[in-house]
Amino acid sequence: MDVKPKKNLGQHFLTDLNIAKRIADSIDYTQQEESKPVCLEIGPGMGVLTQFLLNRNDIDLSVIEIDRESVEYLVTHFPQLYQQEKIIGGDFLKANLNELLPKGFPIICGNFPYNISSQIFFKILDHKDEVRQVVCMLQREVAERIANKPGTKEYGILSVFLQAYYDIEYLFGVDRSKFNPPPKVQSAVIRLKRNGRQSLPCDEALFRRIVKESFGMRRKMIRNSLSQHLNGSAAQERFLTLRPEQLSVDDFVELTNSIS
Ligand code: SAH
Repeated sequence: MDVKPKKNLGQHFLTDLNIAKRIADSIDYTQQEESKPVCLEIGPGMGVLTQFLLNRNDIDLSVIEIDRESVEYLVTHFPQLYQQEKIIGGDFLKANLNELLPKGFPIICGNFPYNISSQIFFKILDHKDEVRQVVCMLQREVAERIANKPGTKEYGILSVFLQAYYDIEYLFGVDRSKFNPPPKVQSAVIRLKRNGRQSLPCDEALFRRIVKESFGMRRKMIRNSLSQHLNGSAAQERFLTLRPEQLSVDDFVELTNSIS
């Protein structure tokens, strides 16, 4: 029997198998070690994407699902995953991933629960030293926001934080009719690949504060939103009349260094 979709868990099950396969095939990871890289799927639901991830012989799949009914469904339909203890029942946001996945999890994939997609990304950033690649479907607006370059109105806090550590590609859109039940919003698939940056060349805690405070007043110029921090140095001059969405990661780094 199929899982009854639960709204509070953001359950919109993908019904188009071609799209599911296309998402699984979008993982573009060159293996560096001899053993296969672990891929963690977030929110497998009834496993529409899981089946195609399992077809890939170059990854070692584990899944994490919060919904007990879905977990039972997966245990029945994917006995091979269950026998290898690769079905984790639990909340991705609360899970201790290093304990659950001692071999690391360089790849994350999933049709994310849209209501918590930002929180998922903040948790991924906490694990940026492990996560080399993310392929995921999410609300199209959020996908655009994350992937867009500075200067666009969708560009925001999460774009800056993610673009600091990942190269981000918008892959393709998915129509709402391809889900059961159809979500209110359109969807899109993006891919994030870890860039070469180990850490930002500035005080990272201050960087995060500066980014958050400036986007907290996104219509205001930096001169006003960050007035408390500014010291009138020449290095700050070119930022004063800009709005936060006009600043790239490197600009925020420069601004942070001029403040600290
Ligand atoms: N991948 C499936 C389901 C997508 S819907 C498909 O494409 O059809 C999102 C899924 O995420 C649901 O199965 C939901 O139960 C699960 N989910 C929601 N919140 C979660 C969380 N905090 N941790 C893990 N899974 C979660």
